[in-house]
Amino acid sequence: MTDRECAVALERLYEFLDHELADADADAIRAHLDACEPCLDAYGVEEHIRSLVKRCCTGTRAPDTLRVRVTQVTTMTVVVRHTPSG
Ligand SMILES: [Zn+2]
Repeated sequence: MTDRECAVALERLYEFLDHELADADADAIRAHLDACEPCLDAYGVEEHIRSLVKRCCTGTRAPDTLRVRVTQVTTMTVVVRHTPSG
């Protein structure tokens, strides 16, 4: 196993996980991952993170920070609206 092969495998890992590679390229990456423990580790970690992300955030939901901001702004608006004037 050469560093060059590892670099190529890791470089294409995201495409591989997204199924964006041609069959021949995907086979080459898969073969490398099978034979190369450090790359297989990297692949396992990446796949694990992706499955976690998929479970938590489906579709194009806004990030939590944005959602909190929007909630704060709407709450403030409601409070202002319900404050008696004068
Ligand atoms: Zn490797």
